[in-house]
Amino acid sequence: MKSFHPAKRLLMGPGPSDVHPRILEAMARPTLGHLDPDFQGLMEEIKTGLKQAFQTKHKMTYPVSAPGSAGMETCFVNLVEEGDKVVIVKHGVFGERMRQNVLRAGGEPVMVEFDWGTAPDLNLVEQVLNQNTDAKILAFVHAETSTGVRADAAALCKLAKDHDCLTIVDAVTSLAGIPVLVDDWGVDAIYSGSQKCLSCTPGLSPVSFSEAALEKIRNRKSMVRSWFLDLTLVMDYWEGEGGRSYHHTAPVNALYGLHESLVMLFEEGLNATFERHRMAHDMLVAGLSDLGLEMFVAAEDRLPQLNAVAIPEGVDEAAVRSRMLNDHGIEIGAGLGPLAGKIWRIGLMGNSARPEAVERCLNGLEASLKAGHNS
Ligand SMILES: *Cc1c(COP(=O)(O)O)cnc(C)c1O
Repeated sequence: MKSFHPAKRLLMGPGPSDVHPRILEAMARPTLGHLDPDFQGLMEEIKTGLKQAFQTKHKMTYPVSAPGSAGMETCFVNLVEEGDKVVIVKHGVFGERMRQNVLRAGGEPVMVEFDWGTAPDLNLVEQVLNQNTDAKILAFVHAETSTGVRADAAALCKLAKDHDCLTIVDAVTSLAGIPVLVDDWGVDAIYSGSQKCLSCTPGLSPVSFSEAALEKIRNRKSMVRSWFLDLTLVMDYWEGEGGRSYHHTAPVNALYGLHESLVMLFEEGLNATFERHRMAHDMLVAGLSDLGLEMFVAAEDRLPQLNAVAIPEGVDEAAVRSRMLNDHGIEIGAGLGPLAGKIWRIGLMGNSARPEAVERCLNGLEASLKAGHNS
C-alpha cells in the first residue's frame, strides 16, 4: 500500500462541502487524551459554540460522535417509546428515514406526505394533528437536502405546541446556512451535521434537547434501545462537570475541526454567514438563468445552500456531472428517488458559498453543457 493523496476537488454537491484549510490544519494538531483537562476545556467551548449556533440556552447541547444520521437516531431512539405515535412531515428522502427510525424505536409513525420539491402545507399538517390527538411528537426536516426546499419551521413548531406534541427537527443542512432558532421556535430535539454549512469534515452531529424532551426521557418505562446513543449515559461524559467519566473515546481530532469551524463562524458572525449564503445563491440563480437553466423549486421555498436545478430536455445529466468532476474538478449532486434524472443539486454550503466557487461552477457547467452538444 501507498499513502493516499486525494485530487483537489471543489465540493458543490449536497455535502460534504468544501472544507476550509484552517479546519484541516486544526485537525492535524497533536492528539490529546479524551479526558485530558485541556481537551475538557475544548469540549466546554464546543458546547457553548453549538448553543450559540443553534441559538439556544438548552444545557444538553453537544456533538454526537458520528455523522448526521446518528444525530437523527439519537433524537428518535431517546424520545420515542414503544407505542408512541409520531406524526412525520415527509417532503423528501429524509422524512422516510424518520419513519424507519420511529419503527425501529417501537413507535407508530403517522405520515403527512408532500410532493418532492414543494413546501409542507401547514393546513394539512394541522388536519393530521387534529385527527391524531394522541400523537406525542411532530418530526420534520427543516432543510430538505434531496429537494432544496425549506419548511416553515416556526409555524410547524407552533402547530406541535398547540397539539401538545414535542418536536424533532432535522437541521443537518440548515444549521449555519439559514437561521435556526431553537429557543424562539420552541424546538425540543434537533440534530445537525458537521459537513454541510459548518464546512467541517463529515462525522460529527451536533444535537440539542429541551428540558421537556429530557423530562420525557427521564420518565421512560423502557430502556433506550441503543446503548451508544442513550443520552443519559453519554451525558456522564459530555456534561459531567468536574467529574467526567469514560463513555467512549471521543474523536479528538475531529472535534478540533468542529471547534475551528465554530471559531470561524463567530469570527464572520451568524448574520453575515447567512447573508453570504444568500448572496452566493442569488449569484448562482442569475448565472444559471443566463445559461438557460431553470430552478426546480418555487422562489419562496428555496434554500440558498441547496439548489435544485431542472435538467433540460435531451441533456445527458450523468455525462455533465462526470465532465464537471473530471474536466473541472467540481462535484455537484444528482437527484434522488423520484427526482433522479430530473435535477442536479448544487450545494452552496459553508466554504462553498463564495463568489469564486459560484463562478467556477457556472463556467464548468457552461463548458460541460457545450461539450455535450458537440459530441
Ligand atoms: C446529510 C443529511 C442527513 C444525514 O447526515 P449524514 O452525515 O450523511 O449521516 C440527514 N438529514 C439531512 C437533511 C441531510 O442533508
